[in-house]
Amino acid sequence: MIIIMLGAQGTGKGTVAGILSKKNGWIQLSTGDLFRENISKGTELGIEADKYISKGCLVPDDITISMVKTKLEELKDEKGIILDGFPRTLEQAKRLDEILAGKGEKVDWVINLETPRDEIIDRMLNRRVCPQCKATFNLKLHPPKIEGICDNCGSKLVIRDDDSDSEAIRKRLEIYDTQTKPLIDFYNKKGIVIVEEISERINRFADEACEDFMKHIKE
Ligand code: ADP
Ligand code: ZN
Repeated sequence: MIIIMLGAQGTGKGTVAGILSKKNGWIQLSTGDLFRENISKGTELGIEADKYISKGCLVPDDITISMVKTKLEELKDEKGIILDGFPRTLEQAKRLDEILAGKGEKVDWVINLETPRDEIIDRMLNRRVCPQCKATFNLKLHPPKIEGICDNCGSKLVIRDDDSDSEAIRKRLEIYDTQTKPLIDFYNKKGIVIVEEISERINRFADEACEDFMKHIKE
């Protein structure tokens, strides 16, 4: 089963994907995490990707698609994969369909997370990530049990570079609106989109969104 997480930055894609994969034994594949891993290891891919990521731009499609393609090959025996942060452009979505079709597979579900814009910005500023196991925390919504320390692995939590820079945040949200939002239409035409609202204002959080999604796909 292939599931795609859609939604702007800071809507909780990583959190939702994390809960669902843990609960169902699925694999969470985050392109942002893959890039950051390559950057910290100083690989050729990382050096190239960092040129774009540090500015808040998207990494070019060819680089991103070939990285995902390789990873999907490695994960071919998994029963479920949640793509978190991919596809983000129409070109990536079309190429993903081709890659999957080549293996007799398809995208089964798309979870579209919706959150008011002001809450999103607040969440990115309060986001802390574990550089080791990639877990995500939010100082206000789901803080780590011990301040500054990852619940899962005990590593020291960090702020992502692109989250600490308000210009980069603004740019990423603008790119989402122009490049990624059209994907909602693309997948709506296939009838596979499930919208889940996550908002502090209405007290609806990631766990509820996950429960609702699971109900949908079991129907
Ligand atoms: P966010 O959703 O907060 O932007 P991610 O961790 O998903 O964070 O991604 C971090 C950065 O990695 C993005 O700003 C972008 O530069 C790059 N990136 C991640 N996924 C993709 C993708 N599918 N296509 C192009 N660039 C990507
Ligand atoms: Zn950790």
